[in-house]
Amino acid sequence: MLYKDLTQYTDGFEPSLERVFNIGWLDSNSDFPVGNVKPEHLHKLKELALGKHPFSACFRISRGFASCGLCGGITTTIFHEKKEIIGTFLLLVPSLDDGQYFAAPSTIIHFIEKHQYMPPQAFIDSLERLDLQEGFNAENVIREMMES
Ligand SMILES: [Zn+2]
Repeated sequence: MLYKDLTQYTDGFEPSLERVFNIGWLDSNSDFPVGNVKPEHLHKLKELALGKHPFSACFRISRGFASCGLCGGITTTIFHEKKEIIGTFLLLVPSLDDGQYFAAPSTIIHFIEKHQYMPPQAFIDSLERLDLQEGFNAENVIREMMES
C-alpha cells in the first residue's frame, strides 16, 4: 500500500494531521485485505463521492481522469444508477471515535468494486453511522485542523 490502513494521514501536510487516518491507499505493490463490502456501504460511499448531500465529505478536489495502479482501468468514472464522472479527490469520514477522521482517495470505490478491497471494520462502521443529511464540510474541517 502507498499508505497502510489506519496510519496517520500525512499527504502533503507537515506535520501530519494527527487525528486523521489513512484508508484505501492501494498501489501496485499492495498486499491488501480482500472481502465483500456490503452493497449498502458501497452505495453510501458513492453517494458521498457524488457530493449531492448536505454532508460534504470531499476535499482536495481536482478534475480529470485517473487510472488504477493495479489494473490500469479508469478510476474516475463510476456507475451509480448511471455512469458518473467523479474526478479525483479525498473523502473525509468522521470516525465513531470522537474527533477522529478517516481520509480515503476517491479511487477507493474502484478498489472495492474491481479488486475486492476490504476496508477496516472501523471505517465501515463509521460509514454506516454517517448521516448524509447532516451539515458537514470536509474542506472546512481540514482547514481548521491545519490552523490549530
Ligand atoms: Zn483497478
